[in-house]
Amino acid sequence: MSGYEAHTFWCIKCGQRGLDIQRKVNHRHGKHHRKKLWCPWCKMEVNHIECRNDKEVEEFKENFAAGLYKEELEESLEVIKKENSVWS
Ligand SMILES: [Zn+2]
Repeated sequence: MSGYEAHTFWCIKCGQRGLDIQRKVNHRHGKHHRKKLWCPWCKMEVNHIECRNDKEVEEFKENFAAGLYKEELEESLEVIKKENSVWS
């Protein structure tokens, strides 16, 4: 055992796979943990869904296809706009 496992992160905006992060195995979050990451496809910081195995990836893809993340995406983009407006 290496002590690490590869988790995949999936963008809630475009549904594509983002950059992988190596996590320590004992670094546990709940299922479909959110993390704001740079999406190489959207070219911006977007919430990503963390998937720990193929089953969770399948679930993410189903949820994404069903539009489950649309509202959450709009909310998170709204926050980015507000954060930016403070500095403009
Ligand atoms: Zn994206």
